Amino acid sequence: MTIAQKTHTELAVPGIGSITIPVGLFIDNEWVLPANGETFGTVNPATGKPLVDVAHASAEDVDRAVKSAREAFHTRWGLRVTGAERGRLLNRLADLIERDAKTIAALESLNAGKGISKATNGDVAGTVSTLRYYAGLADKFYGQTINQFGPDAIAYTLHQPIGVCGQIIPWNYPLMMWSWKVAPALAAGCTIVMKPSELTPLTALYMCDLVKEAGIPAGVINTVPGLGATTGEAISRHMDIDKVAFTGSVATGRRISVAAAESNLKKVTLELGGKSPSLVFPSADLEQAAAWTAMGIFWNSGQDCCASSRIYVHESVYDEFVRLLKAKAETCAIGQPSDPATSFGPLISAGQRDKVLSYIHSARDEGANIITGGDNWGTDGFWVQPTVIGDVHQGMKVVREEIFGPVTAVGVFKTEEEAVKLANDTSYGLAGAVFSNDASQVARVTGAIDAGTIWVNQYSSVSAGVPFGGFKQSGIGRELGTYGIEAYTQVKAVHQNIGQKMGWPF
Ligand code: NAD
Repeated sequence: MTIAQKTHTELAVPGIGSITIPVGLFIDNEWVLPANGETFGTVNPATGKPLVDVAHASAEDVDRAVKSAREAFHTRWGLRVTGAERGRLLNRLADLIERDAKTIAALESLNAGKGISKATNGDVAGTVSTLRYYAGLADKFYGQTINQFGPDAIAYTLHQPIGVCGQIIPWNYPLMMWSWKVAPALAAGCTIVMKPSELTPLTALYMCDLVKEAGIPAGVINTVPGLGATTGEAISRHMDIDKVAFTGSVATGRRISVAAAESNLKKVTLELGGKSPSLVFPSADLEQAAAWTAMGIFWNSGQDCCASSRIYVHESVYDEFVRLLKAKAETCAIGQPSDPATSFGPLISAGQRDKVLSYIHSARDEGANIITGGDNWGTDGFWVQPTVIGDVHQGMKVVREEIFGPVTAVGVFKTEEEAVKLANDTSYGLAGAVFSNDASQVARVTGAIDAGTIWVNQYSSVSAGVPFGGFKQSGIGRELGTYGIEAYTQVKAVHQNIGQKMGWPF
């Protein structure tokens, strides 16, 4: 840690040039320095070289941000602003992101190691659609009138914002996860204390100036970059935060739940990890099944909570499928994030690369067959080759644990019943896929897999209007769609007397 002396700094961004970016704390629509003056470093994952130092929010800074969010909730947001106005401001924010899309995508690509085309067409475009979806929903989410009491009484429900929300997000989709949290919370009328990942805080900080420029009132979105154990913990234990929304690992999700329960029993929603199964049946188009599952595991270099990290293939088509999948892995567009042709960049950190390589070593030690890949790639930065592992069994670490890298394990099944059993043999339940051209089989298997999302003859589709979240230990609650705004709303029931008289004694 060094001493923070400035809230902005210069950074050379590929394709853009040298720009001034914010590296301070954003509280009450102002850039401020942290109370204890600490910073943490960020790194370019493609080179391993330092990028910039960013302010590290202490518990005292989190408290300051919560006070600002509380004041804004009561005086400038929450029930003070119509849904239509909140929607207008969200659309304005989306307009500004579109205006600055090139810079934002370049910053995301630099900080997270994503191919620039994927950052532009995936992360930035997806962020804009999420903001626009919730802009549209902001004035269309209301309660019910319940007039079942005859002429003298009526009951109705009000959908009210939960209040001040802490939001803690990971490094794999820094901007997308920001939008999945911010958009429904603002649409519902909540105010926010946002903590981006310490590995990828730069785009969330860039957003703050756009929030202010869009005209979103002071205190509605506060951003406190920092480490999990300090800033994250201060958010989850804060006595005046009403809800915490988290995306990240199961271990951290558990810690946050405990902190929430031990403090003020704040509401918690969790989007956690996965070990998502793909089932490939003999009637499937094998070439397409290989292409979709390869995309499913190699997208974002496998750093994806729904990555297709377990693939079970019917014994009659196993060899052919593996041949096709191997060919896909060996022709991934690996390269520098700034190259528009790149779809497969580095992993986020040296630690993540080493963790992924250690999983591959464990598979070798346990007798699996490394069909392709299995090593690091290049000389600088944190790449791991696209890796396919065959001859696996359920006891192996690569089958049981989330790797969060470009490594998939391919196993074999004989019957549909066995395929479903293998798919469900996990503590996770985030997603799964079925590749089959037998309609009845698709319906049976889709119904039987324990997961929050099932893809049929495709992989990875996510849309702002479709709910996303996990069964089992993959999470609690749903994001996106109308379910996403519900998660930031509480229901108030009102019973109103129109003409009833209370007789006495009652
Ligand atoms: P992580 O749990 O280490 O960190 C996520 C966030 O939590 C970061 O902002 C971190 O600073 C913060 N944090 C860490 N310790 C904390 C604590 N004690 N209290 C409060 N906050 C704390 O996860 P990660 O390594 O950033 O991300 C990878 C993991 O996230 C993977 O396991 C992946 O599956 C999961 N993930 C899930 C989804 C989903 O939608 N379900 C999406 C993306 C990532």
